[in-house]
Amino acid sequence: MDIAKNIKIVLVNTSHPGNIGAAARAMKNMSLDQLTLVAPEEFPSGVAVGRAASAVDILEKATVVSSLQEAIADCSLVVGTSARSRSIPWPMLNPRECGDKIVAEAQQHKVALVFGREDSGLNNDELQLCHFHVQIPANENYSSLNLAAAVMVLSYEIYSAHLDRSANPADEQAWDQELSTAAQMEHFYQHLEDVLVALDFHDRDNPRQLMQRLRRLYGRIRIDAMEMNILRGILTHIQQRIRPKN
Ligand code: SAH
Repeated sequence: MDIAKNIKIVLVNTSHPGNIGAAARAMKNMSLDQLTLVAPEEFPSGVAVGRAASAVDILEKATVVSSLQEAIADCSLVVGTSARSRSIPWPMLNPRECGDKIVAEAQQHKVALVFGREDSGLNNDELQLCHFHVQIPANENYSSLNLAAAVMVLSYEIYSAHLDRSANPADEQAWDQELSTAAQMEHFYQHLEDVLVALDFHDRDNPRQLMQRLRRLYGRIRIDAMEMNILRGILTHIQQRIRPKN
């Protein structure tokens, strides 16, 4: 699968190395090979190698980083997984839509599919770094899948979408600019927050959900690189105007 190089599976703070190995095996079965581990509790690990079976190569070339932001910095689409919805509602995909979207966008740029901790999933700050959330429909009395099983289901949907698309190539939507990466979006949110504080519009000590709602707003419109330059330029000009001259 030629687009596999653009699809990162990101596991955040995994506690059981066996799950890392089983996730690598699921990925390889589904022709994926880019595994990023955010602060795993135990890695490298013989237990992971045992569970990976013939997917040890994926473990060997896995990237280990210390934060989710670092893991997704170069990605222009980030999808987070969640067994339940929380805080404010977020744009949702079902697993099939998730597969279609990832395959469509991976033709153009890097995408990340992010999985959470075995005991507590992804926290709200991590979920806010995502454009979309995907939930695997499951028993309403027990909807939390094993981590590697969740990786399997969503990797299968990616591979299925790839097979469908190979059979019926879609017309790509032409766009003149690259989409902003997660790192560029993060710089923008910092800049925006600084300006809103300077304007007395926003109080960092009483934030309510302002930044969360602005992240959801700007995440929905998928800002491209040129639009990002314009927005950053506007913010810089506001800062120049309100900064006391001395
Ligand atoms: N108790 C945790 C469950 C964590 S399960 C919680 O409520 O969030 C570990 C990881 O597996 C999750 O973070 C998610 O990445 C994935 N996962 C498990 N069940 C899932 C489901 N139904 N839909 C989407 N992802 C799921």
